[in-house]
Amino acid sequence: MSQQFDLVVIGGGPGGYEAAIRAAQLGYKVACIEKRLLNGKPSMGGTCLNVGCIPSKALLDSSHKYEATQHELEDHGITTGEVTLDLQKLLARKDKVVQQLTGGVAQLLKGNNIEWLQGTGKLLAGKQVEFVPHEGEKQILAPKYVILASGSVPVNIPVAPVDQDVIVDSTGALSFNEVPKRLGVIGAGVIGLELGSVWRRLGSEVVVFEALDSFLPMADKALSKEFHKILKKQGLEIRIGAKVAATEVNGQEVTVKYTQDGEEKTQVFDKLIVCVGRKAYAEGLLAEDAGIKLTERGLVEVNDQCATSVEGVYAIGDLVRGPMLAHKAMEEGVMAVERIHGHAAQVNYDTIISVIYTHPEAAWVGLTEEAAKEQGFDVKAGQFPFAVNGRALAAGETAGFVKFVADNKTDRLLGMHVVGPSASDIVHQGMIALEFVSSVEDLQLMTFGHPTFSEVVHEAALSVDGRAIHAVQRKRK
Ligand code: FAD
Ligand code: AMP
Repeated sequence: MSQQFDLVVIGGGPGGYEAAIRAAQLGYKVACIEKRLLNGKPSMGGTCLNVGCIPSKALLDSSHKYEATQHELEDHGITTGEVTLDLQKLLARKDKVVQQLTGGVAQLLKGNNIEWLQGTGKLLAGKQVEFVPHEGEKQILAPKYVILASGSVPVNIPVAPVDQDVIVDSTGALSFNEVPKRLGVIGAGVIGLELGSVWRRLGSEVVVFEALDSFLPMADKALSKEFHKILKKQGLEIRIGAKVAATEVNGQEVTVKYTQDGEEKTQVFDKLIVCVGRKAYAEGLLAEDAGIKLTERGLVEVNDQCATSVEGVYAIGDLVRGPMLAHKAMEEGVMAVERIHGHAAQVNYDTIISVIYTHPEAAWVGLTEEAAKEQGFDVKAGQFPFAVNGRALAAGETAGFVKFVADNKTDRLLGMHVVGPSASDIVHQGMIALEFVSSVEDLQLMTFGHPTFSEVVHEAALSVDGRAIHAVQRKRK
């Protein structure tokens, strides 16, 4: 006898598990089908908790501590003995953090009486769901609602086939068992820059190949220029306009052939990470007659509220249009459930933050100066550096700035761009301001605590009108 559920969620990543929890809170009987195995054991939490956001941040934090201990403490009058790296311990700590969080999600599901169906789900015609467990008999479920949340997988390119030994994807790069002396990274996107930074800090000589002619083209130009300068100074070699054309693995080495400035060049590495983007994962998810429309790029087609072409079936997260980010997936999951329940929920896609968790971090929300101009706004902008901020100087974290982009006609805030200490947190001030449709003046009139990194936010808002205090500015207003 198969069980009766109001809602079946396929995929237990951040999108899927948050949807399941919110539905349970609203009184629905929920099942979440998740097939992932980690070290042979079923594991909740999707890409994010198992092989994405969380393990990469654990490595970023550990490697930052290692680098800071070696190079930043002396300035503070602290002398250490020889600093050594126990890579196995560092990796074990990362695994423990992952275990703690994936186990925590499983507990949360249990506590909310959500059934975790361990195995593979497939949407059939008529909104039925086939569940094939890791062990046992196939079941057919007939829920009232279905949420598809099967996420994404790394893109593979034929010129660099991943063997998870010498040529790895982002998952392989989370667990090198020794620090590669020479490390190549294909793709200067967010994941490539984060993983490149991790291994550079741990001792690798890192070269990042980027086929495009510009660095982080989606970011504000002032931010990408400053951020590029900072990463270069740290020793991360980023080759812009360098397209990898072929690779050849010989034993434990890989020769990378690439073209740059019209010239063909080669370089040999001990490991190569392929970080050229991610693609929606819908393999085996949909029966041919399930009725779900896909886009040309293989994404599930949805409207603004994540409803698919089949009534009662929603799709969220990396499987659908928009940025592939955990927080976007989470909010879409909650929105889909609220919609099922008849609530008028809506994700504000204009205020989804982007973060690169290097050190310093880079983060932004809303429009870049370039995009605002393209959209026809009469743009005014202002930025302020961390270099003259008291707290930043005290902490020795002086690189970067905060920049605001605003509409000159209405004073409405359009975007915020941060490179600097705690940028990932500071950017939320801009996100909240954008959500509340703030003017620049609103921020100018607020009292910011002293001494804080956030004072740079205040000064950046003031500098939009040429009236920052801790810089000599031509007074305009
Ligand atoms: P996923 O997290 O991919 O979860 C989908 C789950 O569905 C998977 O566990 C899969 O096993 C399961 N599944 C698929 N098909 C089936 C099926 N048929 N039956 C049963 N189960 C199925 N985002 C951020 O916001 N911040 C970051 O710092 C960040 N860092 C990242 C770092 C790395 C190295 C990577 C790879 C990604 C990072 N991301 C980050 C992106 C983030 O991980 C994804 O955007 C997020 O996980 C998407 O969530 P999701 O719920 O849509 O899908
Ligand atoms: P993202 O999609 O943000 O993770 O970024 C991936 C990056 O990889 C993009 O900026 C691509 O231009 C880059 N890329 C893709 N293929 C190649 C290649 N063969 N050589 C160098 N860079 C590449």
